[in-house]
Amino acid sequence: MESLSKFDGIVIDGKSIEFVRMVMRKIRGNNNPDLYLKPIFSMNGNAHADPLIAQLIDGKLSSFDQIPLVHDTTESINKLKNELKFINSISFEAQVISKLMGYMYTRSLKELEPIPYANSNTHYSFPFLAYNYEEQDEYQIFDLLQIAVDEGLMTAKYFDRVYLCTSCKSSHLSYREACNKCNSTNTNSFDIIHHFPCAYVGPITDFTNDLDDKLNCPKCSKALKHIGIDYDKPSVLHVCKNCNHRFQDFVVLAKCMSCRLDNPVEQLVSREVYSYTLTKKGEDIALRGYSSTPKDIEEIIGTVKFDTYRTVVKYEIERIRQTEGSSNIVAIHIVNAGQFYAKVGSNGQQAFLRDIVGEIRASIRSSDMITFHSSEMILITMNDIPNKIANRIVIDILNLLRKLIDTNFKDLSLEITGTAYQLNLESSSELQINDLINSFK
Ligand SMILES: [Zn+2]
Ligand SMILES: [Zn+2]
Ligand SMILES: [Zn+2]
Repeated sequence: MESLSKFDGIVIDGKSIEFVRMVMRKIRGNNNPDLYLKPIFSMNGNAHADPLIAQLIDGKLSSFDQIPLVHDTTESINKLKNELKFINSISFEAQVISKLMGYMYTRSLKELEPIPYANSNTHYSFPFLAYNYEEQDEYQIFDLLQIAVDEGLMTAKYFDRVYLCTSCKSSHLSYREACNKCNSTNTNSFDIIHHFPCAYVGPITDFTNDLDDKLNCPKCSKALKHIGIDYDKPSVLHVCKNCNHRFQDFVVLAKCMSCRLDNPVEQLVSREVYSYTLTKKGEDIALRGYSSTPKDIEEIIGTVKFDTYRTVVKYEIERIRQTEGSSNIVAIHIVNAGQFYAKVGSNGQQAFLRDIVGEIRASIRSSDMITFHSSEMILITMNDIPNKIANRIVIDILNLLRKLIDTNFKDLSLEITGTAYQLNLESSSELQINDLINSFK
């Protein structure tokens, strides 16, 4: 798979839809931007008739002779891709949001619409995202998109509603009417007849006979003539063939075709489905990557959001302009973090980062702030101390972190470096933070 990353684009043989689905999942679900952003074209067959595949291919060819025709598309996607910056996100959710923004940016897409899709576990599939989740986890995409909306990266517009199984969150449900006593669906229903002349009320079976299809009243023996004139059908009676219970109101059950649970419909999980539009902030995120969701930060106690950090540094520069003091911004860089995270998974990564932040917290003053620029770059403020002392503290922190890694994560060749950068009054906070980060490249 990795060997495909060096090509400008990929042409898939579209004869087998199953095959194309499998390949698309491997490519669009990969974590390497050289793969998940790769221009893909389908040739032969009918794979592009699949609504989800149609959204995720960049064009279709009828023969190899047509390859020059998609040259411009390929070049445009790869050119836009080169504008993007790729960082390691702190969590799986942040990583997928980052990937989605990058995908939409390189395809110049502003809208993300749910596709009605019979193969989807939630009946609506979101292009690109669907291939980043296992089928049984597809419902989590609703929560993921809500994070993007809460973060101001997208706006949402109501589209439809789906109902999900309470147990496995699948929407492959079969709705049936059932006996309200034993839940059996094996029932018979009869009209109830009200005979006006004698006021008799009973199920239609009381009025029928075995010889003809005429209806006669069991009480007064008169033949029934016209509905609405001499009789009417005020309601229906249901009889359960399993428990013989007679009742007027069914319960409605939704049997899950994925896990087989029979859900009472009023307990189903109701989810609103939205269509989404990228905001200006979302486009910016596509360009510089999305490192963490607010929840990720909340879970790593003692850190602030990167946006907050930037604001604090901006005001610190204004403050030292008045006081002529010396303040620093510090970066701790975890080299090869990506390979390590791939090995320990999303939970292991969170635990590791929590440990590291705890160690840093213990070494700095409570007024100093810690943030994540990415999952491999931690930024700290060290205000009101000379740069020389800040760098000495950085060396102490690095030694502590190396000890922590040696004790808890041995066998992993993780390298940690760091430096303190003295804030100056000449350039903007933005530029100075970038200078610091770029000094590790
Ligand atoms: Zn019953
Ligand atoms: Zn009668
Ligand atoms: Zn289920």
